[in-house]
Amino acid sequence: MRGIYIHVPFCVRKCSYCDFYSVETSSHTKNEFPDLLAREMDLFRDRFPEDARAAADTVYFGGGTPTVLAPEALCGLLATIRDRFPVAPGAEVTAETNPGTVSTEDLRTLRKGGFTRISVGVQSFSPTILRTLGRIHGVEDARKTIRDARSTGFDSLGIDLIFGIPGQTCTDWEEDLERTVASLPDHVSAYALAPETGTPLHASLSRGELKMPPDDEVAEMYKTARRTLANAGYRQYEISNFARPGHESRHNVKYWKRDGVTGFGPSAHGLLFPPGRAPHGLRTATPPSLAEYRKGIREGRLPWADTLVCGPEEAWKEALIFGLRMTEGVDLTEIETISGSPLPDPLREAVNELVDGGKLLREEGRLRLPGELLFVSNEVLQRLA
Ligand code: SF4
Repeated sequence: MRGIYIHVPFCVRKCSYCDFYSVETSSHTKNEFPDLLAREMDLFRDRFPEDARAAADTVYFGGGTPTVLAPEALCGLLATIRDRFPVAPGAEVTAETNPGTVSTEDLRTLRKGGFTRISVGVQSFSPTILRTLGRIHGVEDARKTIRDARSTGFDSLGIDLIFGIPGQTCTDWEEDLERTVASLPDHVSAYALAPETGTPLHASLSRGELKMPPDDEVAEMYKTARRTLANAGYRQYEISNFARPGHESRHNVKYWKRDGVTGFGPSAHGLLFPPGRAPHGLRTATPPSLAEYRKGIREGRLPWADTLVCGPEEAWKEALIFGLRMTEGVDLTEIETISGSPLPDPLREAVNELVDGGKLLREEGRLRLPGELLFVSNEVLQRLA
């Protein structure tokens, strides 16, 4: 089973730290977007008919802020997908949303229209931190969206949080976690802030107007998240993701397990397995530009900037680098069976070195990161890359 990802590249206003592709735009652009997506799906079906016939068991609307589009437009897009591709019964259908962009009625429409899961970008329950992040919403907006999602029938609800923010103390973060747990979500994502070059936040840091918390405090915040969420019944299943049993994001697991995902929309990425053409996968990337996206579709071609046919070594590398993000780690025999080739020598050397250095654990054919190294996993993953 594969996943389908739709990138909705619109936001009410850019947050100060954001480097995802999204734009503040006119209603005309938003109105034409569903039609562009439908045409992209048709182009995909024509070029990859076998992939188009494979059933999808996850559909994920990310962004941007998908709920900047009217709920009727989102439900219409879901119907467009169902018209063109088989979507399995019981599929997980997620919409990301931001507080302040959905009403109770909007959420009811989404639920009735077939969305099964909602992921709310709360980020923090502190008004000061929300201002630092340049979020459009307040704390009460977040609480209302969470309440509304429950009352309109979403029985799978995720909350996204950020930590390691300028001005944030360990106590602030503990309070954020307590308020999160008190909101009873099914899923929590907690990401350390990474100030990306080119963002207003990065500029403020460079000018010395803001200061990042010290690294040891950020590491402590991560430990606090792991402990608090575990005590509240959430199982950590990935470096930054925690869930009640059965509420793991099935869609995101596909990325870490290197299952097929078809991506539509500007800046969307995908991994296809066209029979006979790319047994180790074909990576696709759509440019992060609405203008280029529109141009490609109007010219009748898939608007991909880049495709990469993966070879066995690429497939192995990706399987390790993405799979090791999961706390269960990777099964080497399974990857060997899927990739049809043994672990390539350079990767075997790197793995042995990391195991000997205590940076990876090898147990009964599985490899995984030790819990205490999850926060500094980049060092290990970069060695494999
Ligand atoms: S809402 Fe999300 S995608 Fe939009 S600007 Fe903020 S962080 Fe970026």
